[in-house]
Amino acid sequence: MEILRSPLDMTAWSAKTRALGKTICLVPTMGYFHEGHLSLMRKAGELASEVVVSLFVNPMQFGANEDLDSYPSAFERDADMAEKNGAAVLFSPLADDVYPAGFQTRVEVGGLTDCLCGASRPGHFTGVTTVVAKLFHMVNPHFAIFGEKDFQQLAVIRKMVVDLNFNVEIVGYPIVREDDGLAMSSRNSYLDINERQQALCLSKSLYMAQEMVAQGERNAGKVRDEVILFLSGYKDARVDYVSIVDSDTLAASSDINEKTLLALAVRIGRTRLIDNGFLVGRDLS
Ligand code: AMP
Repeated sequence: MEILRSPLDMTAWSAKTRALGKTICLVPTMGYFHEGHLSLMRKAGELASEVVVSLFVNPMQFGANEDLDSYPSAFERDADMAEKNGAAVLFSPLADDVYPAGFQTRVEVGGLTDCLCGASRPGHFTGVTTVVAKLFHMVNPHFAIFGEKDFQQLAVIRKMVVDLNFNVEIVGYPIVREDDGLAMSSRNSYLDINERQQALCLSKSLYMAQEMVAQGERNAGKVRDEVILFLSGYKDARVDYVSIVDSDTLAASSDINEKTLLALAVRIGRTRLIDNGFLVGRDLS
């Protein structure tokens, strides 16, 4: 596996690889890999002949009071894991090379970014779409794969790709969970033992909501109220949002059908966690 730092080297590698008739799948990440990231890498290897994993903790997508400075990292371990999971390149550019002095351009998707995490993290998705657009230009992949864990991010990137005519096929990948249901996240490393237990309130809420729907409930407001009541029983949990939305538009739903998604963000102590799942016909476990 090659480790590339320079965007120019990355673009040259991509041009050379394409000239050989090979295909490229990009796996964008912020590092501190867990099984979720590794599953994406292995799936990328099924989609294309060459896998490029980008590792960049993107300052533009963090708010002023967020965890940019404490975001976990383990570069050597990550490089080893990426190589073992089939990456041909680990592309880890420096912030100064991604955003050189004088950088002034932003890529912003409207509409889809107004709700959910977009409402509670102003500017976050502009940071995401700006860096992903840049990564697409640097890496020039045929495919890019993103986790459904960040469901809104996936929807926003799909929209950017259509609206701006990027020639990249976007692939979504299901949420990878710990055995007890907690969605894997690099931020889970912030949790102490007690918080780790409390963090189960997210996946348990999803299971509870899915069970209500399986029993015949179709009123989204009632399901949402029950989830909020359930979460209020966890003393360290502070709800950021609990939303029942249409998975295409991310607009709030009043009824529940195959496209209805429950999405939630909850703070456990100082750690903000997100989770989501379809309420009908999809196994959350
Ligand atoms: P991150 O490093 O947290 O920015 O995540 C990099 C990619 O991995 C994104 O596309 C995430 O949606 C995806 N990802 C993170 N956690 C999971 C998970 N538990 N299951 C599946 N994909 C994930």
